[in-house]
Amino acid sequence: MNADQLVSSQQRKRILITGAAGFLGSHLCDRFIKEDFHVVAMDNLITGDLQNISHLFHLENFEFYHNDVSKFVHVPGKIDYILHFASPASPIDYLKIPIQTLKVGSLGTHNLLGLAKAKGARMLIASTSEVYGDPSVNPQPEEYWGNVNPVGPRGVYDEAKRFQEAMTMAYHTFHGLETRIVRIFNTYGPRMRLNDGRVLPAFIGQALRGEDLTVFGDGTQTRSFCYVDDLIEGIYRLLFSDYAQPVNIGNPEEITMMDFAEEIIRLTGTTQKIICKELPTDDPKQRRPDITKARALLGWEPKVNRAEGLKITYEYFRSLPAALLEQTEH
Ligand code: NAD
Ligand code: UDP
Repeated sequence: MNADQLVSSQQRKRILITGAAGFLGSHLCDRFIKEDFHVVAMDNLITGDLQNISHLFHLENFEFYHNDVSKFVHVPGKIDYILHFASPASPIDYLKIPIQTLKVGSLGTHNLLGLAKAKGARMLIASTSEVYGDPSVNPQPEEYWGNVNPVGPRGVYDEAKRFQEAMTMAYHTFHGLETRIVRIFNTYGPRMRLNDGRVLPAFIGQALRGEDLTVFGDGTQTRSFCYVDDLIEGIYRLLFSDYAQPVNIGNPEEITMMDFAEEIIRLTGTTQKIICKELPTDDPKQRRPDITKARALLGWEPKVNRAEGLKITYEYFRSLPAALLEQTEH
């Protein structure tokens, strides 16, 4: 390293990203490396994969800690920003590991808020549209308090995230900590796990394997899918805004799961059919973000429509080794 490089490395802002080896965390690492930050990545690899960030390991402004943030968090040196993205996010993941899910949203968040306070860092947490549960208003504005069953199977995720928001707001109010809360709606794109059980990889995986597409229930339930690059841009803008209340980031284009299955059939050209399976307990009937706040406060709105985003994501899944394709969620 020459003298100029040393000065620039000392001046770099340092950002801690938890859940860095996961789908969204790895895209955040890419973005902040691109913005010339020093990225401290942390993950315990419970649902993540080092492959998602292996292209960054040779960089001098990237480091990785294999650590469970629910146990403790220690990072030497200064930290200017923290993005807490560690948490299982797919229903089949958090149903398999319910206690870890509750712990990372609660104890993990507490540990990271403590670190943020000690370091004087600004912390942004990854919350979710799941805080609205099975919503009785559509689209969902941030003011809606939600309709969550705390003791249902999804409660471990939803309540952990609601606690996470409450704890973060308490640190903001009582300790004056700089905090940001993003409520993320269903996001998709390259680096999702083909076998993570979420509807998009499930349908594309089934099409690629020549299996029928499994629509749960009668397929009238809706979701609104946001392409990952749009989400990352929204998070970036929120982090550098001065707004501490929750902000929805998602794509308001809503679709039923039956129509979505048909869209994937057209995209992939599969000759398989759609079969209906039992609807999981407490599966939300509708979900669509009201993004009035994101538009007004951040000047943000999604740019990638579903046709474009699905094409990119399909190409990504098609390029994966055949062995990965064979690992189903069952
Ligand atoms: P993911 O499973 O791909 O990534 C989560 C990462 O967190 C994984 O790499 C996992 O190993 C890591 N992790 C989990 N527990 C940990 C712990 N105790 N210590 C350290 N690392 C741990 O999921 P994702 O889709 O990238 O989601 C990332 C975050 O965004 C989550 O907090 C999730 O709740 C939130 N979110 C995602 C979506 C979405 O559509 N993808 C929607 C709403 C909210
Ligand atoms: N879903 C489906 N078939 C599948 C997987 C999921 O019909 O193989 C449905 C699921 O019941 C839900 C929607 O797709 O209504 C989105 O599910 P996902 O697990 O992707 O996310 P979430 O329910 O958390 O929004």
